Amino acid sequence: MVFCFISLCGYAWGFFGHQRINRMAIFTLPPEMFTFYKYHIRYITENAVNPDKRRYAVEGEAERHYIDIDVYGDSAIFKMPRRWEDAVAKYTEDTLRAYGIAPWHLQLMKFQLVNAFMEKNVMRILRISADMGHYIGDSNVPLHTTQNYNGQMTGQYGIHGFWESRLPEIFADDYDYFLEKAQYIKSPSARAWQAVTNAHLALDSVLKFEKILSAQFSEDKKYSFETRGNITVKVYSREFSSAYHQMLAGQVERQMRASIQMVGDFWYTCWIDAGQPNLDSLVQLFDNQQDVIEEKDLAPNPTIKTRTHEIGMSFPQQKPTYYFGRHIFRKEELMADF
Ligand SMILES: [Zn+2]
Repeated sequence: MVFCFISLCGYAWGFFGHQRINRMAIFTLPPEMFTFYKYHIRYITENAVNPDKRRYAVEGEAERHYIDIDVYGDSAIFKMPRRWEDAVAKYTEDTLRAYGIAPWHLQLMKFQLVNAFMEKNVMRILRISADMGHYIGDSNVPLHTTQNYNGQMTGQYGIHGFWESRLPEIFADDYDYFLEKAQYIKSPSARAWQAVTNAHLALDSVLKFEKILSAQFSEDKKYSFETRGNITVKVYSREFSSAYHQMLAGQVERQMRASIQMVGDFWYTCWIDAGQPNLDSLVQLFDNQQDVIEEKDLAPNPTIKTRTHEIGMSFPQQKPTYYFGRHIFRKEELMADF
């Protein structure tokens, strides 16, 4: 069994962040949904990172997690056609897939979750809800909206995992998780694009502040070493993390809270659009502890290109690894429909 640690992996939001987003979103739901989701809170939480696990093994997975909007030129975030067909007509499907399809993919997920609710298919409801939470979380991360996704074009290599894993890991317990009740989303497309736009507009500070602080910290003050299990890893120091987090003035917290709220809103909207099926009758129809997924089932497919930020900042040469934690995943949950 190979373990992979949060600050090394550079998974979007890290395991910690994604799991917290999915978990907290449950508490925004109305009573008619809450009982069902609360019963399955462990499943929804622990499977929040399935899409990241799939991305090395499943063709077409990686592109769902981001959109490199800046490759399309100035102000592209405002100009990109919102409808998939219009965007394909303008740029071709190959191009769109090459640079990420996050906001469009959320609409497909919405369609799938509505269907799962209509079918009252418990396994699909849970699996798609957990996946959807992941993609929504990613859509709210500024570094998921740029081709400079790991600061590799500006001498800031490692910033991806720093912003979305290291900072939440240190500071997220102090965040304010006061959330509003889930609201119906009239236009899921508009909401998805709004999230990506907000994230992209925050990108400037993400990069600029790190540059400013890096000029003030010597290398040995910027980084430190921490022991994880039995290995020592190089991480951004607590002092540097703290200074950066402060300079960002609540940005990570805002984006995390926006993600949570949006996940709750999407789940709720799907349930409404499916005709508000009675979930209480479905509560115990699924035992989420069956079967074991073997590590070999998710072995990296060498023909699948992945991004360098998946590999940790500390060990750029490290091969991607998979984490199964203490939870047992069913193979069909991870792979079905993909
Ligand atoms: Zn992701």
